[in-house]
Amino acid sequence: MSVLAPNYKRKNLSFIRGKGSFLITADGNKYLDFVQGIAVNSLGHANKKLISAINKQSKKLWHVSNAFRIPEGEKLAKKLVKKTFADAIIFQNSGAEATETAIKVARRYFYSIGKKHKNRIICIKNSFHGRTIAAIHASGSKKMTEGFGPKVPGFDHFEFGNHKKLKKLIKKNTAAIMIETVLGEGGIKVIPEFCIKELRKLCDKHKILLILDEVQCGIGRSGKFFAFEYANVKPDIVPIAKGIGGGFPIGAVLMTKKVSKAMKPGTHGSTFGGNPLAMAVGNAVIDQINKNLLKNVNKMSKYFIHGLNEIKIKYPKIIKEVRGIGLLIGLQLFKDQTEFIKKLMENKLLTIRAAENVIRILPPLNVTKREIDIALKIISKVCNQIK
Ligand SMILES: *Cc1c(COP(=O)(O)O)cnc(C)c1O
Repeated sequence: MSVLAPNYKRKNLSFIRGKGSFLITADGNKYLDFVQGIAVNSLGHANKKLISAINKQSKKLWHVSNAFRIPEGEKLAKKLVKKTFADAIIFQNSGAEATETAIKVARRYFYSIGKKHKNRIICIKNSFHGRTIAAIHASGSKKMTEGFGPKVPGFDHFEFGNHKKLKKLIKKNTAAIMIETVLGEGGIKVIPEFCIKELRKLCDKHKILLILDEVQCGIGRSGKFFAFEYANVKPDIVPIAKGIGGGFPIGAVLMTKKVSKAMKPGTHGSTFGGNPLAMAVGNAVIDQINKNLLKNVNKMSKYFIHGLNEIKIKYPKIIKEVRGIGLLIGLQLFKDQTEFIKKLMENKLLTIRAAENVIRILPPLNVTKREIDIALKIISKVCNQIK
């Protein structure tokens, strides 16, 4: 009997080893892992350069306080700034911390310019920004907040796609709009480019900040370094996590100079955030998120989505929609997702659920055509079993 608290309904399956796109159990069974720790292992399991980076750093220095300079972190921050809209970075350890820090930065910015009444954040109802107290209330999901009252004030919600409501919510006390560029947990819903563009314009018009949560869709997963790059806009604040650590817990908030100036000494901190061990791994991840890898993401995405659509045509009563961007792919089903995921697992393909009866498929960014072919074959087989 496990003495872990029962807050997860875990599958009775565990692994002792991982290699690239595969996970291996103690009795030698090999599973194609298209969960990758929920878009975390961006370079697959046991990536050689990550192993080397963590081994090397582990022999030198693991942790020092942020009271001292951490060169590995300054190096990673410089790389992130060079690649993106950002001028400044704060390192954290997880996605929820990153989104909460993003909220703090937005509020502190308006405080610092003498507009402390501007502190409300507008979010999409049933989005996902993490599981901490403020983040669950930002997500506006009944299921996630139930039993965790009192409600954290300061968040306003509109339904996905309800532009009218969004415009109505913007008031004198609004500080920012915070949305996921692609809703991950919410069912792989890609916000169209023109909407992201309009959001930017709307924020400019009302002089409020645009926070784009790229914890799941960022760091190459979309086929560009950030998913919002497709819309050619510059956000003000971007929380990231999952993919940047390649399996090591790292979170970060990217921001413009304008807002970063508000984060004076003492306004925020983290004991672990940005420690040398984490930063050594982060550097080794980002060095591999290059043009060639993004090219692979786009190529494999096209190939995979095409293959999935062919299966959909063959089984129109099982698959409702194939959607997503890059290697953040969703299969919306007519049939029960839980049963389908279980059947895929029995056939040695690992996937994970998302809202709206969607199966989330998250291969590593360096996935190969051969591995996608294996997945397509299994998905097709399960469709045939289920019909
Ligand atoms: C996973 C996720 C988070 C929370 O990340 P944790 O590391 O689990 O705290 C926040 N926002 C989005 C969009 C996510 O997908």
